[in-house]
Amino acid sequence: MKQKRAYKYRFYPTDGQVHILARTFGCCRYVYNWALRQRTDAFFKHGERLYYAGTAERLTTLKKQEDHAWLNEVASVPLQQSLRHLDTAFRNFFEGRAEYPTYHKKHGQQAATYVGTAFKWDGKHLTLARMDTPLDIHWSRSLPKGCKPSAVTISKDRANRYFISILVEEEIKHLPVINKQVGLDLGLKSMVITSDGHTYGNPKFFAKDEKNLAKAQRRHAKKKKRSKNRRKAQCKVARIHARIADRRRDYQHKLSTEIIRENQIVCVESLHVKNMVKNHKLAQAISDVGWSEFVRQLEYKAKWYGRTFVKIDKWYPSSKRCFDCGHVLDSLPLDIRFWTCPECGVQHDRDINAACNILAAGLAVAACGEAVRPGAVKTNPGRSPRSRKARS
Ligand SMILES: [Zn+2]
Repeated sequence: MKQKRAYKYRFYPTDGQVHILARTFGCCRYVYNWALRQRTDAFFKHGERLYYAGTAERLTTLKKQEDHAWLNEVASVPLQQSLRHLDTAFRNFFEGRAEYPTYHKKHGQQAATYVGTAFKWDGKHLTLARMDTPLDIHWSRSLPKGCKPSAVTISKDRANRYFISILVEEEIKHLPVINKQVGLDLGLKSMVITSDGHTYGNPKFFAKDEKNLAKAQRRHAKKKKRSKNRRKAQCKVARIHARIADRRRDYQHKLSTEIIRENQIVCVESLHVKNMVKNHKLAQAISDVGWSEFVRQLEYKAKWYGRTFVKIDKWYPSSKRCFDCGHVLDSLPLDIRFWTCPECGVQHDRDINAACNILAAGLAVAACGEAVRPGAVKTNPGRSPRSRKARS
């Protein structure tokens, strides 16, 4: 099966390229924000829905206006792609996956997407529209041989680093089928606890760099507003943030690949992380662990490599249920790590017991054939006898 896969590299633009990219980013941001305003007004002021095609038409008109002629100074494809990105943001909002789209800020991450004829790829060099020279890309790994990139996204992060993400379609071979399955409980003390008793550390990247970050932030706060030195200090803060994010992503990728390679069926609890993050005490710790990104990686890697991935609805009482006899406790406070079942007397490690329940429920779902659509899986906690049967 052919899959779309993005390869991301760092690149080092020349002064001229920096200049062109800065203008392109600016125009993309302007068009995105302008279209967001158009769509919002269309709905709230005039009660009508404006979609991608409508905004594209209006953009053509806008570019013809004299006071917006500067929009023609950059390649036109990235501007259209900004409208597409906005369309996706709206779709995510309407389908309940995201909040209402917000305006892009000048000082946030910048991005521009090139598709079709807006970039040239000769198998070695990649040149963007309106540029004479190819980008100086640091090829940290090679692209699949003979691939034809369908889109490239250029981005600049707050630490002033430039990245290129190249989208290619490639054949990803399924891994040989193995007879092993695992349930994962996602925790705070350890990021992942598996049903076979392994724990994978929560390497608290943030905590490690916290001191450095605090120092950089203090320095930044002391600098005079709008001064050059303040901007430099801000960049330093952003660099530390970027380093933390890089390390976290790296760790998550290694772990998700390992888990998918070693198991045929992987079951996790679906998380309503966003709701949990509203609990301020846990907020820092949770966003530090980055569960939702981890689950996302497991999901697409399972698809790539022919594994079964099952998400269990959160209301399944995985922690409070005794894995051995099915007894469900009335309550189990967060700070209790070990408990003894009043029904059958078995001693439980809170997290491992939860992971075992998640696996059992996930296997039951997979056996019922309900797990065809990942993410839309519902289990009935009342069906515990069947879950136990599935385990044996
Ligand atoms: Zn029990």
